[in-house]
Amino acid sequence: MTRPVIAVDDVAKSYAMGDVTVHALRGVSLRIERGEFVAIMGSSGSGKSTLMNILGCLDMPTRGRYLLDGIDVRRYDDDDLADIRNRKIGFVFQSFNLVPRTRALANVELPLAYAGVGRAERRRRATRALRAVGMGDRLDHLPSELSGGQQQRVAVARAIVASPPLLLADEPTGNLDTRSTDDVLAIFAALSAQGRTIVLITHETEVAERARRVIRLIDGRVVEDRRLDGGPPSPVPAGRAPAGADLPAADRSAAA
Ligand code: ADP
Ligand code: MG
Repeated sequence: MTRPVIAVDDVAKSYAMGDVTVHALRGVSLRIERGEFVAIMGSSGSGKSTLMNILGCLDMPTRGRYLLDGIDVRRYDDDDLADIRNRKIGFVFQSFNLVPRTRALANVELPLAYAGVGRAERRRRATRALRAVGMGDRLDHLPSELSGGQQQRVAVARAIVASPPLLLADEPTGNLDTRSTDDVLAIFAALSAQGRTIVLITHETEVAERARRVIRLIDGRVVEDRRLDGGPPSPVPAGRAPAGADLPAADRSAAA
């Protein structure tokens, strides 16, 4: 088996709050292989953001081990982690986080600029990424000239432009209307079909069911890990096949 993109072993995260310790994660273990499309679900307070921050190398576990694309993140300082984030993870946030007063194309070129890619090549790749999310006719628009759904599509283009091994999305449809939600989820499905590895954090069942595997958190623990696509058996018994189970299979030979 190839090396998993995410390998989390018995990860716990506690916060000391005066006399009280809050146990946000209580021993989470999971593996996510290249090409998987996974939703992490749970109600408010279940530990989703805490897990997201750890998966995104924005925070460190109190206990346990996390390997991102084979890299043990404990060994690195903040500067190195920033570099690892740039190379390994494309982030999509609920609030889009585009750079204001900066055109769509320049927003999408940013990760490539950090990576030292030359100007012409940046432009070529950013244009291609924007076309891939249906924004090829909005290259010169400012964020303020785009709808929420369009801004989020630009944010997805920015997240994929450097082809990171992991696409990590935290409530990406949380600020979108139903139609834009469908557009953005269709883009994730298409990226997944191209072999990208996607971890989508959401509290909405309809959103989670667009993924091919759903991991459910309650009170800092994984209580369910269910495949929706009849793919390779997971360690936890698979449940019913809900809507969305008929998405096209990922081409695992494609680059993530
Ligand atoms: P979710 O994203 O699923 O709503 P969180 O991961 O944000 O859940 O929070 C899980 C638990 O950890 C909650 O009880 C929350 O209050 C607590 N928590 C999260 N971040 C902190 C923090 N920085 N300091 C103290 N407690 C925190
Ligand atoms: Mg949260």
